[in-house]
Amino acid sequence: MTPTPGQPSVALNDGRRIPALGLGVWQVPDADVAGVLSVALDAGYRHVDTATIYRNEAGVGDALAHGPPDVFVTTKVWNSEQGYESTLRAFEASAARLRRDVIDLYLIHWAAPRRDLYVDTWRALVRLREEGRARSIGVSNFTLAQLKRIIAETGVVPTVNQIELHPRFAQTELRAANASLGIATESWSPLGQGRVLNDPVVQRVAAKHSRTPAQVVIRWHLDQGLVVIPKSATPSRIAENFQVFDFHLDAEDLAGLAELDQGEAGRLGEHPDDH
Ligand code: NAD
Repeated sequence: MTPTPGQPSVALNDGRRIPALGLGVWQVPDADVAGVLSVALDAGYRHVDTATIYRNEAGVGDALAHGPPDVFVTTKVWNSEQGYESTLRAFEASAARLRRDVIDLYLIHWAAPRRDLYVDTWRALVRLREEGRARSIGVSNFTLAQLKRIIAETGVVPTVNQIELHPRFAQTELRAANASLGIATESWSPLGQGRVLNDPVVQRVAAKHSRTPAQVVIRWHLDQGLVVIPKSATPSRIAENFQVFDFHLDAEDLAGLAELDQGEAGRLGEHPDDH
């Protein structure tokens, strides 16, 4: 797909582009997600991030069926479906629920190293891309060691590594590692699940730009070349989170926000090696 003109996008290592801002729909119930996504599409979003485990692909598919044709869709294979054949089956089920023959970006949700199936799973994604069923393929929650292993065993570099990333958990090292491999970094829980919005530094920068804290944090991601997928089910917040293309943070703002990074202590989700 071609990103909507005027909407920033990030180049992927397969020659495609991904809209830099998308709607995350984790924890949005299947019965509600079509309405939520329709609000976002009306507000201008052209990118949605779902996953098999969110159990809302069918509702996402409903909104897509009635929405504009140029929406970039990401979904993910869940841990219990890893393995070559089972991943191919999982893809077909996701594509059917989403009512799309072709998925823009298909990700391995977690490496789940204890299962030790992620290399075979990656081979299935490579096949899906070769067959044109997934336009781009990537991973989520992969450590540098896990990235190196799939690249060494298949020769195929993921386009994206979608990882937890927000001002309190800035992931400086993994971000640099992704970049050195040519992998785009996508930020999940980009607002720290809403918890970074009360931070006084965020609030100060927001006041300076006459913006909201959420807009400042989303801008923090965009200004660093990250793909960002904030979640909201509230129409006014969905719109607010998209009104971010007409301002930038300056060096002083970025330096202040850099102070919020707590390293590992800022992590909200599980460590990928424990999943
Ligand atoms: P988030 O950081 O996007 O925070 C969402 C919460 O922030 C909302 O529930 C709401 O409470 C608050 N919020 C949002 N907009 C706001 C606004 N304008 N003003 C005030 N509060 C606001 O958290 P998230 O949902 O965990 O992450 C976003 C997306 O990332 C998910 O929906 C999902 O698509 C993806 N994700 C992926 C993984 C993975 O393992 N790959 C894990 C978690 C999330």
